Amino acid sequence: MKANSIFVSVWDGGQEIRSDAFYDAVTGEVDVLHALNAPEVRVLEQEFVEFGGDEIPVCRSCHSYTLKSAMVANPHGSDLNEIQVCSDAECESNQ
Ligand SMILES: [Zn+2]
Repeated sequence: MKANSIFVSVWDGGQEIRSDAFYDAVTGEVDVLHALNAPEVRVLEQEFVEFGGDEIPVCRSCHSYTLKSAMVANPHGSDLNEIQVCSDAECESNQ
């Protein structure tokens, strides 16, 4: 179920752009309600949604889903490493 949240993008120099958004905590999907006007010649530093008092990082490839933790095997041993992956299995960042 989608809930109201705030989508925040942070640009170099610390400029924040905040937009109303809907966030689905089950699927991780983020719908930004207003198009973002990116500052010109700026580098995007981070994107996240504010939801339930948390800042949940948003995928830098698709900008439409939050990241979630996943455990992957360490190629050099038997340990598991925790990494951040896109909630959208189809996202190019997961390919
Ligand atoms: Zn993605």
